[in-house]
Amino acid sequence: MNNPDPLGLDWTNLSAPPPPEGAPPEVPQKFFEKRKAVHPQRIDGPFRRFKWLVMLVTLGIYYVTPWIRWDRGPYAPDQAVLVDLAHRRFYMFGIEIWPHEFYFVAGLLIMAGIGLFLVTSAVGRAWCGYSCPQTVWTDVFQHVDRFVDGDRNARMRLDKAPWGPSKIARRAFKWTIYLVISFWTGGAWIMYFADAPTLTADFWTGQAAPVAYITVAILTATTFVLGGFMREQVCIYMCPWPRIQAAMLDEKSLLVTYKDWRGEPRGSVKKSAKNPDNFGDCIDCNQCVAVCPTGIDIREGPQIGCITCALCIDACDRVMKEVGRPRGLIDYATLEDCTREAAGETPRPVWQTLLRPRTLVYFSIWAGIGLGLMFALGTRSRTDLTVAADRNPPFMLMSDGSPRNAFTLKLRNMQNRQRRMEVSLSGLPGGVVWNDRMARTDAARSMTLTVAADSTQALRTYVLAPPGTAPQVFAFVLRSLDAEGESARSETRFAAPGEAR
Ligand code: SF4
Ligand code: SF4
Repeated sequence: MNNPDPLGLDWTNLSAPPPPEGAPPEVPQKFFEKRKAVHPQRIDGPFRRFKWLVMLVTLGIYYVTPWIRWDRGPYAPDQAVLVDLAHRRFYMFGIEIWPHEFYFVAGLLIMAGIGLFLVTSAVGRAWCGYSCPQTVWTDVFQHVDRFVDGDRNARMRLDKAPWGPSKIARRAFKWTIYLVISFWTGGAWIMYFADAPTLTADFWTGQAAPVAYITVAILTATTFVLGGFMREQVCIYMCPWPRIQAAMLDEKSLLVTYKDWRGEPRGSVKKSAKNPDNFGDCIDCNQCVAVCPTGIDIREGPQIGCITCALCIDACDRVMKEVGRPRGLIDYATLEDCTREAAGETPRPVWQTLLRPRTLVYFSIWAGIGLGLMFALGTRSRTDLTVAADRNPPFMLMSDGSPRNAFTLKLRNMQNRQRRMEVSLSGLPGGVVWNDRMARTDAARSMTLTVAADSTQALRTYVLAPPGTAPQVFAFVLRSLDAEGESARSETRFAAPGEAR
């Protein structure tokens, strides 16, 4: 390969002689290369069809999900996926996450990160090539270009053509479509944060919260600019992931690779027909470059601009078929297999590339976290109790010398029906409990109360202990008085004379 550096950097100048002493330092003439417009050509093939499938699935999920309904009863919203910031809940079909259960969301984010490591170490930048939002929306906009302006050659001609009524009309039409798609994209995002039908009605009647309009405006603008105009520049200059993934790839990772030992030296069909021994399989037709959505030439070796979308494989396979040569001049291959193949050996089967210690370790960690989360989700209690003791004063002495402590209990009922619950004391011999909704004379070792559906109820609570009780640790125990019999326990300290809390 001509450029073996995975970042596509040219290191050859490092050995250049230093400038003569006293000479002014060399100042780079340009810090930023002017963008050359990329006009990818239409291509069909297995990878392109897979890309279509991924695009339809990911966009379908994004736009449709907020409109899926999910009946949770009268006390909860009926939107299947909802980040309910106002009530601090996250709903995902049958799962409801409360703020104190944020570790589930953190676990999912960690799984997403490790999943990305797993995919990258196995099949290179497949995330970049198929499912990254920047890739998906750039692909959508490139299809709009094709629909409005025609395929590659027509678009290149139109680009070079002077501005006139026809070009202005085409551009205006195309950018309007960009704007509609961008607006729809921003609009879909806010639907995840409120009831979608209600928010849509409020949005169009001017009654939605200002943050909804601001969010849509920002996302419309970013989609329009990043997907419609900046495109591959985001991947090459702005996104950190290509830099990180360079550290994650190894010689066993699958990459889109041009097999230079087979393709070089390049020569047209005519030339190679005359001198078959002097030429490789590459007929220098440039089809692989023409279809590339980032406009690079994969024959120059692995480079940061390659998002491994594999469209150049489709293009080259088609060319190879037309000229009667075996497919795979450009193909997914590991650096290790390239070395073997170049030496005339058979490359390893793909399953050996995918199932290797590194990917298995990533997969085990990923699956372990997933199983742990599922177990925690399946066994979590739908009740919860937190206790905050009064600090000032930590206790009061009643007329008979009994110390009394005050607490604020927070009782959570995470079911969407109201429940009878019992709060009792564990430890603290002789202690009794009551709350500010009941008479002091009804104080006992436990008290029962009703907690509303899907709510957290704050309860001002008092605990009284016999005279002479020493400071000590005890616990409040919350138990649901229903078939589930769920319980939660929270330890705290009873303050009394003899020790400051
Ligand atoms: S498509 Fe294949 S044959 Fe044509 S230039 Fe690219 S590598 Fe060579
Ligand atoms: S070089 Fe090939 S795999 Fe890489 S971005 Fe271009 S078309 Fe996709």
